[in-house]
Amino acid sequence: LEPLYQFMLRVRAAGGITTPAQWLVLDELAEKYGNGTMKLTTRQSFQFHGIMKRNLKATIKAINDTLMTTIATCGDVNRNVMCNPNPYESRVHGEVYAWAGRLSDYFQPKTKAYFEIWLDQEKVAGAADIEPLYHATYLPRKFKIAFAIPPHNDIDLFANDLGFIVIEEKGKLKGFNVCVGGGMGMTFGDEQTYPRLADVIGFIRPDEIVEVAETIIGIQRDHGNRLNRKNARLKYTIDAQGLPWFIAELARRRNKPLLPALPYHFKTNGDQYGWLKGTNGKWFYTLFVEHGRVKDREGYPLKKAIRAVAALNKGDLRLTGNQNLIIGNISPEDKGDIEKILNDHDVFNNPQNTALRLNSMACVALNTCGLAFAESERYLPSLIDKLDVILRDNGLEKEAINIRMTGCPNGCDRSSLGEIGFIGRAIGQYNLYLGASHNGDRLNTLYKEMLSEAEILQALEPILISYAAEKLAGEHFGDYVHRKNIVQDKRKTGLKQLS
Ligand code: SF4
Repeated sequence: LEPLYQFMLRVRAAGGITTPAQWLVLDELAEKYGNGTMKLTTRQSFQFHGIMKRNLKATIKAINDTLMTTIATCGDVNRNVMCNPNPYESRVHGEVYAWAGRLSDYFQPKTKAYFEIWLDQEKVAGAADIEPLYHATYLPRKFKIAFAIPPHNDIDLFANDLGFIVIEEKGKLKGFNVCVGGGMGMTFGDEQTYPRLADVIGFIRPDEIVEVAETIIGIQRDHGNRLNRKNARLKYTIDAQGLPWFIAELARRRNKPLLPALPYHFKTNGDQYGWLKGTNGKWFYTLFVEHGRVKDREGYPLKKAIRAVAALNKGDLRLTGNQNLIIGNISPEDKGDIEKILNDHDVFNNPQNTALRLNSMACVALNTCGLAFAESERYLPSLIDKLDVILRDNGLEKEAINIRMTGCPNGCDRSSLGEIGFIGRAIGQYNLYLGASHNGDRLNTLYKEMLSEAEILQALEPILISYAAEKLAGEHFGDYVHRKNIVQDKRKTGLKQLS
């Protein structure tokens, strides 16, 4: 007899897009082999929880049969490449989406082992199984890439090892600013670990992108810390050797330097809810999915509603980097059918939701993440209920404040980029961080440690009340707490934030 092992599976959806047929298969797999729910992650992937060991192979096979995959969704390789999932928002969005898909495919491991183990494909030994980029030992740690199209930083570009900021000129794609060295994870009590935002190091033309990305991954492969996994991400390689060294090494390997970075401006890192018309004349509805959990609960049968939408077999379904869902590519004549389903199931975006709730994110944490110290996804909604009372009493219900919670400092929900951020320390106790920017280009700072719920409310209420009374026109909460010196932005990274 062996213990009753259960697993979490991630499903890679290219650029976060699935067809209705794929959605229906995933929906069914969640019922048949998982815990009946699906989690839309902050990296535009699906997570399934509670897959029993004996069902792993059948689940992975069914996912591959529907032309999706679980390959490289963990491990020391490049993960999926994030991008705004609406290629029809503009012509440039379409081009950038194609580049993201190309990089995502290009950096998938070439090994056949996945197919041999999970899909019973013929064993291929020796020379046929060579990794041209990852070599025999792969990368020192995972690697993350993202694209952001200003003014929306809806995938939190600066949280990635490698980011590309789209630069447009007269409605055309001119190229990309290259950003390196982002990452959110840290370990409590280890000051050598910290969240860090990526640095903007230069500009490239579109046709240089594959070569530049491959060279950067190669530098990390050759110079990343292979002795200590906690210091193995690219951010630590850059801090250990210095950014000038990294830029020089990139230029040396390419035989030319990057061009100077071009100006850009990010307004927000949130999603735009509701209907948006695409350049292809079709419609895209961004649906709020609280913390990305697709499940049915009393009075809110979200999973059934999306299943009914998928069963129409119209358009497609797209995952955002903020754990929400876009019902996309809907013809004008089909819009009414979608609205009817959402209305019939009462899951249409609720106008009563405060902007705080609409800008909230939470990781899985308890009870399925083995690393969690505290609740996150199952707790944040009820904390927001209590904060909403304070917001409504002070006329702040329409104020978009990013609030993020994680159950441990690994940072899966990028809580270091919350204007209000929580990291779980123990059951019912959280560190409270304040003051990230509203557009994802400044980390938050530790404000108080080990707070219970009563202490969280006690800490936040006076700040929210004074924010309501004193905020300047258009001033975001994260900027306000800095202007009032409630927290001080001592440095760009989160190093030494923790006692
Ligand atoms: Fe688990 Fe920590 Fe990631 Fe949350 S942040 S899902 S608790 S590893």
